[in-house]
Amino acid sequence: MSCYVISVLNQKGGVGKTTLSVNLAGAFHEAGVKVMLVDSDPQGSARDWHAASEGTSGFPVIGLDRDTLATDLPHIVGDHQLVIIDGAPQVTRLAAAAIKTSDLVLIPVQPSPYDLWAAADLVDLVKTRMSIDDNLRAAFLVSRAIKGTKLSGEVAEVLKGYELPVLNSGTTQRVAYASTASEGKTVLSGASAASDEIRAIRTEVCNIIGI
Ligand code: ADP
Ligand code: MG
Repeated sequence: MSCYVISVLNQKGGVGKTTLSVNLAGAFHEAGVKVMLVDSDPQGSARDWHAASEGTSGFPVIGLDRDTLATDLPHIVGDHQLVIIDGAPQVTRLAAAAIKTSDLVLIPVQPSPYDLWAAADLVDLVKTRMSIDDNLRAAFLVSRAIKGTKLSGEVAEVLKGYELPVLNSGTTQRVAYASTASEGKTVLSGASAASDEIRAIRTEVCNIIGI
């Protein structure tokens, strides 16, 4: 499949997977990349967002919440250059299928040791796949950080133990993420601190996957 696939995974709910997926897809669309968003969560939050957008998103959002995702995806990508998979809140065969089909796994984590410990199973799954797939990349992204607070030593310590890179860019806790989502929009319309965060993530991701 000549298309880049980024999965946004974390079995924990509420860490910002859907928020990141939707906004990152919007950011790539804004940059002229033909992007498709795949909603792998049976809850269908990204599909709900797309319905609320009433056709203004500019990119398709497709539900693919089966563990055959890896084999189904090549049949539906068409001429899209980039697929972003919004992950489901469980480490299941679905997550394994998403990892298998990905070039990059992004793991959004809220900066608390509990949230990081909860990511251990996912990290194992990603690393197992990395051991047989030289091209797979993975990184943590700090999500919903409280602005102005530094990562605690404990958080940094747990992250270091996982031996996966942590993006320099991430998101902080901002009302704009929730308020735009409820209207089926992204934070990208107009200049804002939230849009700066999302564009910085896009830049860093581009550097990692080389697009
Ligand atoms: P997940 O997909 O991991 O379950 P969501 O993206 O649905 O997480 O986010 C959970 C809730 O937190 C949503 O109500 C969303 O609007 C809100 N949220 C996510 N990221 C942020 C952020 N950076 N700032 C403020 N609220 C956020
Ligand atoms: Mg979600």
